[in-house]
Amino acid sequence: MTYDALSRRPTSGSSAATHESEDELYLEDVALQDIATRFGTPCYVYSRAVIEQNFLAYRDALADHPHLVCYAVKANSNLAVLNVLARLGAGFDIVSVGELERVLLAGGDASRVVFSGVGKQRYEIERCLQAGIHCFNVESDTELALIQQVASDLDRPANISLRVNPDVDANTHPYISTGLKENKFGVPIDTALDLYQRAAQMSHLRIVGVDCHIGSQLTDTSPFLDALARVLALVDELAAVGINIEHLDLGGGLGVIYDKETPPTVAQYISQVREQLGDRKLTLMFEPGRSIVANAGVFLTRVELIKETPDKNFAIVDGAMNDLIRPALYQAYQGIEPVISKNTPAATYDVVGPVCETGDFLGKDRELAIAAGDLLVVRSSGAYGFVMSSNYNSRPRPPEVMVDSSDAWLVRARESFADLVRGETLLPQL
Ligand SMILES: *Cc1c(COP(=O)(O)O)cnc(C)c1O
Repeated sequence: MTYDALSRRPTSGSSAATHESEDELYLEDVALQDIATRFGTPCYVYSRAVIEQNFLAYRDALADHPHLVCYAVKANSNLAVLNVLARLGAGFDIVSVGELERVLLAGGDASRVVFSGVGKQRYEIERCLQAGIHCFNVESDTELALIQQVASDLDRPANISLRVNPDVDANTHPYISTGLKENKFGVPIDTALDLYQRAAQMSHLRIVGVDCHIGSQLTDTSPFLDALARVLALVDELAAVGINIEHLDLGGGLGVIYDKETPPTVAQYISQVREQLGDRKLTLMFEPGRSIVANAGVFLTRVELIKETPDKNFAIVDGAMNDLIRPALYQAYQGIEPVISKNTPAATYDVVGPVCETGDFLGKDRELAIAAGDLLVVRSSGAYGFVMSSNYNSRPRPPEVMVDSSDAWLVRARESFADLVRGETLLPQL
């Protein structure tokens, strides 16, 4: 089980005159209050221990079965996060060449990288071939032809697997469903045999695997197992025509607990996959993102002011949708609580940022005992948090901090105004 590195401990030397503090939140052995004092707010904070534990859960569950766990870089691409995983021997799933450069800079091994995504460009394919990545997860016939062309131009064979679209409903938010036939991802599974046979004829392609990724935040194993059954049927059809697959990549997508979800544990999920696989000699690959980092991170924000209207109470905080867009984009729920708990009466608030959009909220209708100046933690912010942040409203992006036992390290500095306008120029005076 994933342990929650957040804990409440008695507040040391509480001397607030107006209220009596009870306890305060720690991430590992660091008080979040101290992080806010040192690095300011808003701010992302990650736990090294939780990242490691979540990654090791995959490795432990796969145990003696041949495997490669490729962390999905897009979930959180901070170099320190990638480095923590690289030190454990992780592979990486990338969706752009920028992510490859990050992996390499963080000490990751190119031979454990898989490249997914529907729009791989020629220069990206070239760079990946030069770096010697493990495999391209090919998403269309045109892309297959492009990879063959680039590989032949460079005279470097490309390892490929086809990302098949098994047409299963992941029962998740429509924006993060990827394995339905109307989605842009992958090749329809009933056309895959034909495409594999064409790939087998191409001079610079080496078929190594079959891949699928059906969506994100899945809280039930049945869509995964349905997809697996369809993919295994394809593997058998391929074997019958003499195309032998080395690995099966089941993508990412395992859900986490944000609120009251009850996702399977990594161990439960993997054991069901291994059971369905039987004694087939396929290497198992996974591309987990969210299940590694979501609950390893929090977002810290401070209440700027309380605004009461006849209809609603608003807690206006210094963090906003440009920093953390999941609530606005996916109507995602993330837990919000005060860092220091108080014995004052609670009220119901919409927790909103200063951005000029009605969609700018971090949480709605939350019961909170808070006042202006209080520090809030937004839980489960380690995945699709900072990486989706923007400078909308000319807001500098927040810093990222990694906690390791009782140490806290700044792993990305807060942006400055100079960062915001870097690269911009005025028109010349004519
Ligand atoms: C986003 C993505 C992942 C990671 O998904 P999670 O839900 O974060 O585990 C894995 N593989 C591919 C191809 C993706 O697009």
